[in-house]
Amino acid sequence: MKQIIKQHPSPPLDPIRDSLQRHYLFTLGRDDPSCSRHYLYSALVSTIRERLITDWRNTRERQVQEGLKTINYLSLEFLMGRSLNNALLNLDIEDPVRVAVAEYACELEEVEDEEVDAGLGNGGLGRLAACFLDSCASLGLPVVGYGIRYQYGMFHQKIENGYQVESPDLWLRNGNPWEIECPEHTRRVRFFGHTDYYRDSHGALRARWVDTHDVLAVPYDVPIPGYRNSTVNTLRLWKAEATDEFDLEEFNAGSYTDAVEAKNQAEQITMVLYPNDASEQGKELRLRQQYFLASASLQDVLHRWVRQYGNEFGEFAAKNGFQLNDTHPTVAVAELMRLLMDEHGLGWEEAWEITGHTMAYTNHTLLPEALEVWSVELFGQLLPRLLDIIYEINARFLGQVAARWPGDSERQRRMSIIEEGDHPRIRMAYLGIVGSHSVNGVAALHTELLKQGLFRDFFEFYPEKFNNKTNGVTPRRWLAHCNKGLKSLLDETIGDGWLADLGQLQRLREHADDPAFAERFMAVKRDNKDRLAALVKHECDVSFGLDMMFDVQVKRIHEYKRQLLNILHVIHLYDRILRGDTTGLAPRCVLFGGKAAPGYAMAKLIIKLIGNVARVVNRDPRVADWLRVVFLPDYRVTAMEAICPGTDLSEQISTAGKEASGTGNMKFMMNGAVTIGTLDGANIEIREAVGEENFFLFGLSANEVEETRKAYRPDDIIETDADLARVMDLLQCGHFNLLEAGIFEPIIAAVRSPGDPWMTAADFRSYIDCQRRVDSAFADGGRWSRMSILNTAASGRFSSDRTIAEYRDDIWFK
Ligand SMILES: *Cc1c(COP(=O)(O)O)cnc(C)c1O
Repeated sequence: MKQIIKQHPSPPLDPIRDSLQRHYLFTLGRDDPSCSRHYLYSALVSTIRERLITDWRNTRERQVQEGLKTINYLSLEFLMGRSLNNALLNLDIEDPVRVAVAEYACELEEVEDEEVDAGLGNGGLGRLAACFLDSCASLGLPVVGYGIRYQYGMFHQKIENGYQVESPDLWLRNGNPWEIECPEHTRRVRFFGHTDYYRDSHGALRARWVDTHDVLAVPYDVPIPGYRNSTVNTLRLWKAEATDEFDLEEFNAGSYTDAVEAKNQAEQITMVLYPNDASEQGKELRLRQQYFLASASLQDVLHRWVRQYGNEFGEFAAKNGFQLNDTHPTVAVAELMRLLMDEHGLGWEEAWEITGHTMAYTNHTLLPEALEVWSVELFGQLLPRLLDIIYEINARFLGQVAARWPGDSERQRRMSIIEEGDHPRIRMAYLGIVGSHSVNGVAALHTELLKQGLFRDFFEFYPEKFNNKTNGVTPRRWLAHCNKGLKSLLDETIGDGWLADLGQLQRLREHADDPAFAERFMAVKRDNKDRLAALVKHECDVSFGLDMMFDVQVKRIHEYKRQLLNILHVIHLYDRILRGDTTGLAPRCVLFGGKAAPGYAMAKLIIKLIGNVARVVNRDPRVADWLRVVFLPDYRVTAMEAICPGTDLSEQISTAGKEASGTGNMKFMMNGAVTIGTLDGANIEIREAVGEENFFLFGLSANEVEETRKAYRPDDIIETDADLARVMDLLQCGHFNLLEAGIFEPIIAAVRSPGDPWMTAADFRSYIDCQRRVDSAFADGGRWSRMSILNTAASGRFSSDRTIAEYRDDIWFK
């Protein structure tokens, strides 16, 4: 560094190099270039941030000046992953940055590895929010993301003796150079207390929420750059802090330690992300998080409104929208009513009109355990004023239901936002539906199942509210960034317009039968497999052969996703190989990855089973040429960026009707993996887009699942299927757990249970037969490369740019 400066005593330096050196020397005060890559990373982020700041301010000012409608995307999760490379790609400065970094004797990739994932989400729902932010900025839409700045994000997973071991994710330990703290926009969020009624100066009866315990919400802003369009949007994450007077009160009462305790209590709210995917535990702290996010975010929007327009709300609904990412933030419906009435003096009718026109709700799952309900008792203690409002919303709503279906009290009971009983509960999804103008599912099948099943009564009552928005993923991160080899080949073959218009990938179709192109396409795949193999070797010490099929299932571990069915297939392959039945078999490397919720015993046991099967298989020289199995620990966004480009076969094998959409399936498809899957979620649309001959379909349909359930006898299936019987025998005799007697009994019992909700045995035969078809397609190199190319070519529809354009046209700016 000193040397560099001596060589170049004065400008002109190129601006990126100049800025990087300045931050390294003066912002961080480091002069030894080999000091630590972390300082180089920090200096580089400061350099990029500096370039973003002007566009960021301009974006905000333009939106204010033009009086554009702003959409506020409320989500308890944003699974952002790393930001550095995405910013370089979107700002188109990767090349000069690479050169500038080289002066520190460092590869850009090494600097990128200094960044830890922002893991503020569990899985698909949180990653969807992150892809949406990228697409909104890239489409130049005025969208603000609102979320929580958890001190501890998604836990880290290690595998010890095959078991998942969790450790805390201290992602902020070395600071977060992307965020800007904005204490000047701090808001106050209330809890507890009670409602007090009074007459205002006009003699009108009004309510106020008093004797509350307050917590401060301090925002941290993160820039969201669009793809080469000078737009920089904002993700605003709230951190909870104690109020000063809270401390003082206790302090004056003589108890310093109680004051500190109170401070801790307040800051608890944003301490940790709940690690459950697709289920709710009903913990009070979780409700506090939900309300904290909803209240702080709505106050923020209203504060800005009042500053600009005063207490005049006639145009508010035309200029503001709220998209609620699942039921988690639906308490916002009641909170907006409270703020408009109690804080801004509106009457019920006017406030309700505004609420209904601004709120829109996205449903993400049909699983009963995810349908959020809160005990009225708990809710009433924590948020008494909101409970009053929910009762009033419900009473008026049920009045309308009664008017439409006179005397149908059963229907009123079914549709009530309050589930009556000894312990009445609030149905948050119903609050979301009643309080919104739009209710959407996340794939065509999912939306249909919502309309016919879960929300049937509501669909009958409000058919115009329901619509589908099939999920998507951002092609910048999930193709251009993570698959540089394919990006180059695409740029060369069809130009680079696909990055902002993924439909252009269709033009690859004309190259699918060109052997020279296919060869290059598969050479890229092989490079990516090589990289993935290196990761597997490093993490699991298992060698993957590049000529073998890379067969991958990575996603949260959940029974409905059926990692169990996959490992039963692996056991079946192992059994076949040992029997010498290898005709038509394609050598496979099977990779599993994913986190189980720490309290989900069955999911954790499935991880253990995968680990034990992997140990037996990988140690047996007789199967070494045919089969390798690994469980790759700590699946996260950055891992997926290495995994999906190196995958041949994408496993999307959920019980039909249970996976709302899936987005992992789309990332794999974009990167040329072929899918084996059920008719579930977006798989159906993927198959339609790519053509049935390029998709491996198996299993019962959603309707057939429900039919079969009525007389489901897995023991009969096992008895009449010799292959499944042998697999079950291997499990039952303890072949994979010789020194751990009986540990897999719960899994065996689940497969054999007539009540098995996931119908694993029902789909086994269809699955392994389908896997045989996969084998023969893979053995025919020309056929496989064609399928692979056609998958990438048909993936345009699954860009989140398409999804967001639909939200824009049908919901936000209709
Ligand atoms: C895409 C993604 C998911 C969602 O995967 P599904 O297969 O759709 O469940 C979950 N976690 C991470 C880290 C992802 O990148």
